[in-house]
Amino acid sequence: MNSRVFFLISKYNLRPNSDLGQNFLIVEDVIKREVERAEIKETDTVLEIGPGLGVLTDELAKRAGKVYAIEKDSRMVEILKREYDWSNVEIIEGDALKIEFPEFNKIVSNLPYQISSPITFKILKHDFERAVLIYQLEFAQRMVAKPGNKNYSRLSVMVQAKANVELVERIGRGAFYPKPKVDSAVIVMEPKSKDEQIKLNENLVKALFQHRRKLASKALKDSHHMLGLTKEEFKKFKPIIERIPHANKRVFQLSIKDIKDIEEFLRNEGLI
Ligand code: SAM
Repeated sequence: MNSRVFFLISKYNLRPNSDLGQNFLIVEDVIKREVERAEIKETDTVLEIGPGLGVLTDELAKRAGKVYAIEKDSRMVEILKREYDWSNVEIIEGDALKIEFPEFNKIVSNLPYQISSPITFKILKHDFERAVLIYQLEFAQRMVAKPGNKNYSRLSVMVQAKANVELVERIGRGAFYPKPKVDSAVIVMEPKSKDEQIKLNENLVKALFQHRRKLASKALKDSHHMLGLTKEEFKKFKPIIERIPHANKRVFQLSIKDIKDIEEFLRNEGLI
């Protein structure tokens, strides 16, 4: 147990804010393993989203050259500044979704679950080497799901088009205080090389996964409005849609490459 969390909560009479996803890590082993997975060296600059009461930040500070920690709750910022005397940590007060990230090459965070999706896409817009992130279990399972799996979704496609992702550990709810209602999991994410990354048309992926159990052609017919077609284009779209590649696969069976094939076909036909 990491007793620092309980000590600080009682010292500052803190009431954790569930709207900010304040479930603090209290199991020492989990904290150590997460940091070890990031393989941090003295030359690394690590970004942490939501340092909270600083239990992860403290381990990161021992290993990294520099740590940037972005925290939205001013109470936490105040406590971190008073309680620790790190020389290599810069606490940035603000909303991680809104402020510009500093340069970093690794990212380690126990994320506030409310912002899982937008923060993941923001992280993926940056160049970095390795991310070790704790998410709600269901979200993590969707991130790593492969075609045909019941968790395979738009998130799986958009994340895996850009990065290699692995779910490396499940964490029970007892590892946090206050105890959340759901289990969690650790994801290790490494961006693919520029050559391997596949840039997908987001509207097309949205339109397809609106109907994940339907045939690809039927799914597109039913959500053509999401493709922003003009009346003229829609007239053209109806006969063409039967000829899209992989038309007879169901959406949840389409690989990223299959989706790219569909995108290229529609682009060649001048429809997207
Ligand atoms: N790192 C600590 C730990 O593991 O015990 C705290 C993790 S807690 C799950 C999430 C933290 O993110 C909280 O401290 C919360 O205040 C902060 N937070 C929530 N939303 C945020 C946002 N949009 N930007 C920055 N920090 C945020």
